[in-house]
Amino acid sequence: MEYIAGVDIGNSSTEVALVRNSDQYEFVASSLFQTTGLKGTVKNVPGVVNALERAAETADIAVDDIDRVLLNEAAPVIGDVAMETITETVITESTMIGHDPSTPGGNGLGTGTIVDIATKPEDHPDAESYIVVVSEEIDFAAAAETINDWADRGMDIQGAIVQKDDAVLINNRIDREIPIVDEVSRIEEIPLGQPAAVEVAAQGSGRTIDQLSNPYGLATLFDLSSEETQKIIPVSRALVGNKSAVVIKTPAGDVEERTIPAGSLTIIGEGGNSISVDIDQGADEIMEQVEGMWPIDDIRGERGSNIGGMLSRAREQMAEITGQAIEEINIRDVMAVDTLVPQAVEGSVASEHSMETAVGLAAMVKTSELPMQQIADELEDRLGIEVSIQGVEANMAILGSLTTPGTDVPFAILDMGGGSTDAAYINDGKEITSVHLAGAGDMVTMLIDSELGLDDREIAEGIKKYPVAKAETLFSIRHEDGTVTFLDEPVAAETFGQVVLLKGDGQLEPIGVDASVEKIRRTRRQAKEKVFVRNAKRALRQTTPTENIRYHSFVVMVGRSALDFEIPEMISDALAEYGIVCGRGNIRADIGPRNAVATGLCLSYVGSQSDLAGTIPDGLATEVGWTQLTGDGGS
Ligand code: ADP
Ligand code: MG
Repeated sequence: MEYIAGVDIGNSSTEVALVRNSDQYEFVASSLFQTTGLKGTVKNVPGVVNALERAAETADIAVDDIDRVLLNEAAPVIGDVAMETITETVITESTMIGHDPSTPGGNGLGTGTIVDIATKPEDHPDAESYIVVVSEEIDFAAAAETINDWADRGMDIQGAIVQKDDAVLINNRIDREIPIVDEVSRIEEIPLGQPAAVEVAAQGSGRTIDQLSNPYGLATLFDLSSEETQKIIPVSRALVGNKSAVVIKTPAGDVEERTIPAGSLTIIGEGGNSISVDIDQGADEIMEQVEGMWPIDDIRGERGSNIGGMLSRAREQMAEITGQAIEEINIRDVMAVDTLVPQAVEGSVASEHSMETAVGLAAMVKTSELPMQQIADELEDRLGIEVSIQGVEANMAILGSLTTPGTDVPFAILDMGGGSTDAAYINDGKEITSVHLAGAGDMVTMLIDSELGLDDREIAEGIKKYPVAKAETLFSIRHEDGTVTFLDEPVAAETFGQVVLLKGDGQLEPIGVDASVEKIRRTRRQAKEKVFVRNAKRALRQTTPTENIRYHSFVVMVGRSALDFEIPEMISDALAEYGIVCGRGNIRADIGPRNAVATGLCLSYVGSQSDLAGTIPDGLATEVGWTQLTGDGGS
């Protein structure tokens, strides 16, 4: 009897499958540890040791009892992601602004001429209605009293703009319901005597504002010409998804959307042709050129641009790992995604942000090989166990995925990891083609991070993995779909009113993010669609002899991004259009889409050890209790 461990070192995680082998074999453990260091370097060894220890513990043996460790011939690719902003909203002189404090007061839409609450009513310009400005010197009680007093004198006060965080306090003390936006830091810059509109969406309704975020809504309120309407589009766009906003029309107000040169990419095909594409032409154009040039020999970024910097960083990193010259390191794929990122607006009065267009980019760096033997040697030294490099990642993934009940050759797998989306297709003749494409889970996390302006990868990762809800009252939460769950215990004080992650264990984890549940959901789903649906299609096209996606009939999704609660469904839906049956893998009929490569490594060893055809072992069918594999080599 012997114990064999298959080890898959991925960009994100190191997975182990442990098998006990005698006349029959049996999988006795699976484990996982975060990959230490960059994939393919000796820094991976601690992570591997850790994952092996965990597997041994589960199987109730010592690591020493493991007789042989099998590493995969890891694909020599690493992924990297970056973001390039390509527009900038510049507000010249005075302007219209948008603002979204965390706790506005009141609700509804109000318009009117701006007046300072510290002035006398006699001094006010004649106007149909008014918006009052309350600077920090004015106490909330005094402000509320003045509003009530002015209203009694017949002034139609329709909204308030407040410097301190006092909106709710003022709202509680006035006789009429008006929208109040607070925390406007540079209130002195608000131009008195100008028309303004204030909008606050009904609290707890899960709604967002709908007039000020609509360019025609703004045009109606401010009586704008079509030319002016065009100009305020960046403003309305910045306000989409807000719970409150103020827009002020000022004399000579002007909002400009300026395009910043973002550099260009030069895509060099394997045939030697090359083409340049400007980043500011957007993701679709970039992807069209990439696909047009496929297969790609190298991609270069313009010197001095962000993109150029990112691509050369990736290249340098890879050169360092492999000890090869930088010139030998090629970028074989990029994935571009259009996105909008919040950026501080120049000339703002309340640190407003506007949504600037940007392009997110993931790159795939490829070298001739990774120094896997070094890892094997180091591991052998550390553990005193025989370590060998067993097989090519894509083949092992296919072999492991075939343990999913209901699968059979020919079929394709989509291995959706952190840095790359890999695909492999095995035909009737058991020949395997594979591709590694840039863009996967890490890119989704990056998009969520930047689009929501979080600047916190961990929170972004949480938002990617779990649904959100809002703790609306002490005893209830409202879900993404609008349904409400009542709780037995009150929520914690710091959770009340917050957007929370539903991690599935009944815990509500507040994330301290201002955006609404709807906005978070929309952002999250769009990021997943943009990256994974596009890459699934690309990958499947590249693994056919015809570049026609309909060539495929069966697709199995594996990799830990296939654990996602909505990605597999999005891909299945998209592929159903092509008549493709697509589902999440269930490795060894037991552990879901995880561990495919590690499992494949073990199977390739305990099965017959010739080519892949022979390595789809007879015994497998009886082991995991599914019907015999058809096809020549397997039965
Ligand atoms: P690799 O093979 O490149 O190491 P993995 O297969 O481990 O990659 O996948 C890593 C990716 O899977 C990361 O982007 C991570 O965020 C994502 N991921 C891990 N668990 C989940 C989950 N439960 N839901 C969604 N994504 C997940
Ligand atoms: Mg992997």
